[in-house]
Amino acid sequence: MLQGAIGSFLLVVLTVPRSVPAENLMCACDDHVHPCDHATCWGKVCFVSKTRENGKATQRKGCLSDNIPEYCLTEPMEEYAMSCCSSNMCNENTSVLLKGQEQPEEPASLTNLLLMILVPLLALLVLITLSFWKLAQHRRKRLLIRHDDLGDADNMLKASMVGDSTLEDLLNEDCTTGSGSGLPFLVQRTVARQITLVECVGKGRYGEVWRGVWHGENVAVKIFSSRDEQSWFRETEIYNTVLLRHDNILGFIASDMTSRNSSTQLWLITHYHENGSLYDYLQRTVLDTPTCLRLACSIICGLLHLHVEIFGTQGKPAIAHRDLKSRNILVKNNLECCIADLGLAVMHSQGSDYLDIGNNPRVGTKRYMAPEVLDEQIRTDCFESYKQTDIWAYGLVLWEITRRTVVNGIVEDYRPPFFDMVPSDPSFEDMKKVVCTDQQTPSVPNRLYSDSVPRCKHKNPFMSCATKMHSHLW
Ligand code: ADP
Ligand code: MG
Repeated sequence: MLQGAIGSFLLVVLTVPRSVPAENLMCACDDHVHPCDHATCWGKVCFVSKTRENGKATQRKGCLSDNIPEYCLTEPMEEYAMSCCSSNMCNENTSVLLKGQEQPEEPASLTNLLLMILVPLLALLVLITLSFWKLAQHRRKRLLIRHDDLGDADNMLKASMVGDSTLEDLLNEDCTTGSGSGLPFLVQRTVARQITLVECVGKGRYGEVWRGVWHGENVAVKIFSSRDEQSWFRETEIYNTVLLRHDNILGFIASDMTSRNSSTQLWLITHYHENGSLYDYLQRTVLDTPTCLRLACSIICGLLHLHVEIFGTQGKPAIAHRDLKSRNILVKNNLECCIADLGLAVMHSQGSDYLDIGNNPRVGTKRYMAPEVLDEQIRTDCFESYKQTDIWAYGLVLWEITRRTVVNGIVEDYRPPFFDMVPSDPSFEDMKKVVCTDQQTPSVPNRLYSDSVPRCKHKNPFMSCATKMHSHLW
């Protein structure tokens, strides 16, 4: 009897012409049940039915051309169940259960729910990771490619002509063409790859400095350890974006990133100064007063050039060094100094009021930290604060220089600032106690007061420069 009912029901359905929809409701349908065009049919009512034959349940969907309530209202039986609805495609996502048939298991829908939450979350996570990775890649590329690209014929030409030039030729050409502060990327790379390393001349906290030879000329090659990648980025970025040619700033030649023995090597190539750092120089040399002044003056000149913003096409932003100390100052053959190691520098432009702090996790040298850094009161959003910390450090460097200056036939051994108040590798807390809590400053030797040059601070150009810039120590 049931089979007959289904048969007549199907007959009704099948009488609806396929091509001309006589009804006004669109339903989902199965091809083998009744006229179904691309899984849709037209009728007055949509249905979902389920039959069990030989133990196997089959679900079907389709349209009813007439409202046949008896079928639709049939209570679910063991072999047959049907459910109807009357809006467009209302049977698309519905199903019907036979009598005694259980609801789909809960865990399955829970799994679906979990999947629905987890999959987008995972996708989002992958997307975020990818964007960070891309950003880092982009930063790396931006530095390497800069405004020159491999297709630039002019630069290709310059790179091929490197072979005939001296370093001075190359650097002068760079200055006169006004191409910015650094040599074109390809020239930098070509120079870097023609250098022969000769001897290691210095070890900083973050890598080694070698004397190298390029076309018979000495150059200094700073090889950064991979954990200090950020300092290489920063120094490269600053030297390449800013016109920093100044007698008292270490002269930049090239920057290069290569892959050697499957690890990345980061090089920064600069002028070589055989006297080494001021720290090294003061260990082995005593000074007369004119040399003391010459060293001190040249450092403040370099620092001033860093600190001031220069406007115009050949201009530069203001830069604060943030790690000034005798080890980061080099002594040239003419006994003037130049400031090195810009790995921690910050830049500021007045126009845009943009403070570029970079993203180097490295911090300055504890022994040279200003009180406001040690007691964490420094206004890190204000560029002036960074300049002031440089002047504090400069004061300590002056103290180191003056101890080694012979006055009235007396001179002291070299000692680092606060040598008599903190241990040899002082901690942040050691420094904080001495500088902030006890408010100690290095003591100035009495003999200096008897000499007219160091004593007469306001008549000295370097003293007045410093006084203008900051009141620390003076
Ligand atoms: P770090 O960032 O590792 O501190 P620095 O640039 O301060 O590296 O250099 C470390 C040391 O290498 C300096 O203290 C100095 O002795 C030596 N040095 C650095 N640059 C030069 C150079 N251009 N010429 C000669 N010696 C240098
Ligand atoms: Mg250094």
